[in-house]
Amino acid sequence: MRRFSANYVYTNAGLPIRNGVIGVNDEGVIVEIIDHKGQEKEYAHTEFRNGIIVPGLVNAHCHTELSMLKKQVTPKTGLADFVNQIRNFRLQGVDADEKPIANALNEIHRTGTVALADICNTTDSLCAKEQSRTRFVNFVEVLGLDNQKAHHIMDRAMVIREELTTLQGSKCFLTPHSVYSLSTQLWEKLAQNFSGNDIISIHFAESKDEELFTQTHSGPIAQNYKDWGLLASHAPKGLPIDIVKQYLPKEAKTLFVHNTFLTREQAHDLNSHFSNACFVLCPTSNIYIENTLPNIPMLNEVGLKIALGTDSLASSHTLSIFEQLRVILSTYSELSFAEVLRWATINGAKALGFDSHFGTIELGKSPGLNLITPFDFENGTIRDDSRVIRLV
Ligand SMILES: [Zn+2]
Repeated sequence: MRRFSANYVYTNAGLPIRNGVIGVNDEGVIVEIIDHKGQEKEYAHTEFRNGIIVPGLVNAHCHTELSMLKKQVTPKTGLADFVNQIRNFRLQGVDADEKPIANALNEIHRTGTVALADICNTTDSLCAKEQSRTRFVNFVEVLGLDNQKAHHIMDRAMVIREELTTLQGSKCFLTPHSVYSLSTQLWEKLAQNFSGNDIISIHFAESKDEELFTQTHSGPIAQNYKDWGLLASHAPKGLPIDIVKQYLPKEAKTLFVHNTFLTREQAHDLNSHFSNACFVLCPTSNIYIENTLPNIPMLNEVGLKIALGTDSLASSHTLSIFEQLRVILSTYSELSFAEVLRWATINGAKALGFDSHFGTIELGKSPGLNLITPFDFENGTIRDDSRVIRLV
């Protein structure tokens, strides 16, 4: 057994423990939690660090297979142009190769992430994932605006799901890309496949263009489709919120990703309709693509369950969840570190159905342990020079 201690241990299951000691066995399972309650004692083989110990981080939205596009996409040009740039890379035959994906998975591990929701359009990430110690939920992303191709797209997605299901310890689900990128036929075929036990992940309210397109079939997204020889009329028309209500099961765990332009009313409406909704924020990606952030304090006030993701290296310079936490806290000082830490850990774990292992430091769990150092103990928050170091 190894014992770790720091000035405070944030367990996410009670108040931070001053000078707490955490015992971990060789399998990474927490076998001892010591709260001295002011009566400090020495324990053999304890590694004491300056800073705080927190559970392993959970990344609730990523696309590791786009890792080869790091620094390739022009930033801050808006969503429609971003989608166009990604499409062009694919048309040019810029295929994923294993090396950038393996490097990305190393970064994910090194920066303290223990579980990852990964959007997959191919099986390109499978080999690298087989070598990784991270736990995955793989989402096979379904998209395509041509009604005639709906059948073919579904068949292909199911083949990819079959292959990704071979990855040990992971889960795999079919999922829609967004409200603006599926034809009506494709939505209907996909909806027939959903069950209440599924986890669904959908890009939502990432851009104002999204709502303009679904309501009017016009704007920059419609222009993209026109340029690509596709008919916007194949897409369902209406408010984004009505489209998801129509096609997604109410009771499924549903991750709404980005929420950059989500209004208070929409947040209320989605949260009351979907009984297991989680709202995933990807701050570094929002800044890269739309150069803005969601009104996070407002989303928090509404009482949403919030988790954090990074999106891909095509739209974020990092796959570190700690960096997302840093951007949020440096922008919105009214939010507490302890609360945003829960978004980065237990809320993501719950949304992915991994909370029996991850998200809190409790006996019998194997959440991974991270050190955050240095730490601003006076204000109970991170400092500009804080960094995360993986301990377990
Ligand atoms: Zn994404």
